[in-house]
Amino acid sequence: MTEEVILQVKDLQTYFTVDEGVVKAVDGVSFDLHKGETLGIVGESGSGKSVTNLSIINLIQNPPGRIVGGEVDFHGKDLLKMPPDEIRHIRGNKISMIFQDPMTSLNPYLRVSTQMVETITLHQKLDKKAAKEKAIEMLKLAGIPAPEKRIDQYPHQFSGGMRQRVMIAMALSCNPEILIADEPTSALDVTIQAQILELIQDLTKKLGTAVILITHSLGVVAGTCNTLCVMYAGRIVERGRTDDIFAEPKHPYTQGLIRSVPRMDRENADRLYSIQGQPPNVIDLPDCCPFYPRCDKAMDICRKKYPTPIKSENDRAVSCWLYSEER
Ligand code: SF4
Repeated sequence: MTEEVILQVKDLQTYFTVDEGVVKAVDGVSFDLHKGETLGIVGESGSGKSVTNLSIINLIQNPPGRIVGGEVDFHGKDLLKMPPDEIRHIRGNKISMIFQDPMTSLNPYLRVSTQMVETITLHQKLDKKAAKEKAIEMLKLAGIPAPEKRIDQYPHQFSGGMRQRVMIAMALSCNPEILIADEPTSALDVTIQAQILELIQDLTKKLGTAVILITHSLGVVAGTCNTLCVMYAGRIVERGRTDDIFAEPKHPYTQGLIRSVPRMDRENADRLYSIQGQPPNVIDLPDCCPFYPRCDKAMDICRKKYPTPIKSENDRAVSCWLYSEER
């Protein structure tokens, strides 16, 4: 990871209008991504992790969704204001994505070779023969055995883990600067999960690609990410270096998440901790701390006003009234 910032997300806001009101799925999200960095975005379902990343590459379906504010700076240009042709060129070429279930991204009717060659020729100045050679090279790097033969097979002829390897090979085949991995291991069994995470780490390190890893599992980010953003109800509630957050989580929600992770080094442990209550209904959310119904440290001010982020050294920030002098 270097000091060079390659992507800057500033005050991103994405809302969905539904019959019951307005869902502020992403409400003022900001972060920087550095060259070669692996940034984890963690939170429960519905916290806004995936919508944040779909917004970054301008893939929000309108209606019902709409990016109502903010900027996504990539090499001095705002991706949110780019013409459709320009952003299409960036997607898959400079910024690639892999999703939870590779079957939703791979076309079951087409051979892997057809899909990979199409992606590579679309974004790179290579003819079909050179593109196929590049595709075979990427499959080999991604750990697919006998890639020269397997490239001409259909997705259903691969296991779940192998399909995810194909997706990773395809996503990295155009040497993107950024890989967005949205829950890339959730659909896989535990032993395969570790292999896929290791593969993403190895390949992106080799190719110098920065990664945004979206997950609901703190176990996944612990060994993988340099930095961490914890999201709750559409906002980042805590941000910092992964090691710093694990050593001293500040936000009560992050503290709860860390306490809920099973630990092998604790003997005679009591029942595993779980955060009380349920995530809030994000329709027409009032401007208070949305975690207060579940927080055992809540104060009067938490019910009245959303806390401004308190920044500290090493790019650490926490949005909680406990750390504010204003309270
Ligand atoms: Fe708890 Fe208040 Fe902090 Fe929210 S702002 S996490 S309710 S202490």
